[in-house]
Amino acid sequence: MKRRLVVVSNRLPVAISRTGGKWRIQPGTGGLVTALEPLMNANHGIWIGWPGCGPEAPVDELIEGFSAEHGYELKAVPLDEQEVEKYYRGFSNEALWPLFHDLLGHCIFNLDHFRSYDAVNRRFAEIAAEYSTSKDILWIHDYQLILTGRHIRQLHPSHMLAFFLHIPFPPPDLLRRLPWCEQLIEGLLAYDLAGFQTLRDHRNFVHCATTLGRGVEVRSRHRHHTILGYDGHTIKVGHYPISIDSADFAARASSDEVADAAWYLHENYQHRQLILGVDRLDYTKGIPERFLAFERALEKYPEMHEKISLVQVVVPSRTMVPDYVDLKGKLEQLAGRINGRFSQHGWVPLHYHYRNLDPVQLLAHYRTAEIALVTPLRDGMNLVAKEYCASSVDNQGVLILSKFAGAADQLGKHALLVNPYDIEKTADAIHQAFCMPKAEQKRRMALLRAQIRRNDVHHWLDNFLQEFGSRRRGGAL
Ligand code: UDP
Repeated sequence: MKRRLVVVSNRLPVAISRTGGKWRIQPGTGGLVTALEPLMNANHGIWIGWPGCGPEAPVDELIEGFSAEHGYELKAVPLDEQEVEKYYRGFSNEALWPLFHDLLGHCIFNLDHFRSYDAVNRRFAEIAAEYSTSKDILWIHDYQLILTGRHIRQLHPSHMLAFFLHIPFPPPDLLRRLPWCEQLIEGLLAYDLAGFQTLRDHRNFVHCATTLGRGVEVRSRHRHHTILGYDGHTIKVGHYPISIDSADFAARASSDEVADAAWYLHENYQHRQLILGVDRLDYTKGIPERFLAFERALEKYPEMHEKISLVQVVVPSRTMVPDYVDLKGKLEQLAGRINGRFSQHGWVPLHYHYRNLDPVQLLAHYRTAEIALVTPLRDGMNLVAKEYCASSVDNQGVLILSKFAGAADQLGKHALLVNPYDIEKTADAIHQAFCMPKAEQKRRMALLRAQIRRNDVHHWLDNFLQEFGSRRRGGAL
């Protein structure tokens, strides 16, 4: 790709921290950063975002040093405490996040928060417009910045704008509950390319645009994309399931360091199977339902007693939001109840860890676990499911996966698919995984891993940018 890439996301791909009075800037981790870095390097790209720290940090100095070292530029969008509260914690995380995950009961709709969201999206747009030209590709990411494209369009009508939504997109019946749904639809229609994770999200958006938007028409439908006409231009809508750097996970999982850590873990759980759950603390992840299913499995299948342990790692997240504080309390209570009911001398059925795992420990857990229990109530994709398979380098292990995770579209055929609300059947799936013969595990896992290898994050990026490269602003393909 020859054109310069200008990426705009809520957060810059760095972590800024202070230890012992000294400020540090470190590159972020995660598949998106890994996949984008070589491209950003090759054509001196720009990444625009909020640095995630307060005014006391010497942000400009830190990011200048980072840019010189990494071969692409960072531009910071400063946010004050009020904006973080209203745009980020408020509208993004208490309105859009639960609404887009079909969890209306958690939604708080507040006009003041929406106004702040719009104003902050405009600020991102102004900075993006200042540092880009019409020769660049501007790629805006995720639900925090849906309206940014529309604001850029007002400043620079001929810029090429792409958007990718990392979370699910809701159907019209759900979206219409949001008092500002029309503005969101119009915001998305300002892009040249709007990408979603799954066919369902893609269809939901087309359905919302044609039923809730004004003057939107479907020009043509194709297998992987739809062309919409709106306000004198066309918008390409498609689905591009994001993934992980599968080869990197497999290589790191095979390292001696991880093998040693996995051996120690295995020693701790001798003669029993380990079921693993790894999630951010979030009500979309279905962790209480998962605990209930595990409890039900222990009730229903006593032969599993002392032979199975659930290790649930919960990564702290959004710790100031009341719904998340409540969830944490609920999980502690449930874990206590289950252990109180079933523990025996030398056997604790549920190990609950509320903390981050370092990368070696995470991979060691993936390698050691006989079963991964990935049961979100809804999830845009769910990378943990893919990481578990990619790290299962011995082709052993069973993936139990929610039907409502985006990853189910790709992995559903060879995983054990469950409805996380169905406690009884999820309990049965745990038992089925527990009893699954090794040969069947190997056959399924080999197929899962091959799928993930073929459709890794590099493939995702190439696909998305290729689609974009084939577009011309405002017109026919
Ligand atoms: N992860 C992490 N620290 C941990 C455990 C997990 O950074 O202690 C990572 C994990 O490797 C994965 C990400 O967090 O890449 C979670 O991604 P996913 O798509 O499953 O869920 P999200 O948190 O984005 O909703």
